[in-house]
Amino acid sequence: MKIVLLGAPGAGKGTVATRLRDEMSVPHISTGEIFREAINNKTELGNKVSEILARGELVPDSLTIALVKERTQNSDCDKGYILDGFPRTMVQAEEWEKIDSVDKVISLDVSVDEVKRRLMGRRVCPKCKATYHVEFQPPKINNTCNLCSTSLEIRPDDREDAIEKRLEVYSSQTSVLLDFYSKINKLITIPADRKPEEVYQSVVSIISK
Ligand code: AMP
Repeated sequence: MKIVLLGAPGAGKGTVATRLRDEMSVPHISTGEIFREAINNKTELGNKVSEILARGELVPDSLTIALVKERTQNSDCDKGYILDGFPRTMVQAEEWEKIDSVDKVISLDVSVDEVKRRLMGRRVCPKCKATYHVEFQPPKINNTCNLCSTSLEIRPDDREDAIEKRLEVYSSQTSVLLDFYSKINKLITIPADRKPEEVYQSVVSIISK
């Protein structure tokens, strides 16, 4: 099954996608994660996109679509995939429907205040990528990863000005996708201002229908 997870930054797409990936045995493809990894590894792609990400803006459509196309041609996607953070613009959504039409689009609906709370408190381990939250899921030792003892960091795009920009980009460019997928009968919206477990169970029940 080919699934798209939609939702503002901080809506919980990554959390849901990671669990779904394990349960469905299909890859979780996060374009944001692909870009961040390229930046960490200082690849040509990473150098191209690092400033765009730090500003909270979007990477050009053509580059992003080509990247996802290449990734989904891998044999691990034969049974499907979970797309997280892609498509993010009308051009990407329309193009992707032509390239590889998806089965279901699940939108995680969260209020702006809740999203800000989640993003501002998020801390990540630069080494093993574990994610924490200062309020909801603090590490056992202050600012230190439970798994590998590395000092936790704030993602550059989780700083306040970048968060504002990302939310603005979401409302101007990505929220129109709700209409697009609704018109082709692929959209299911679920309230995601709830506990991660409740949100996940709603997603599972939608997928198994
Ligand atoms: P995310 O981790 O999904 O919040 O993505 C982090 C950043 O990566 C975004 O703010 C964009 O700069 C970039 N990015 C991720 N996915 C896309 C996409 N589909 N199109 C353009 N830029 C993207």
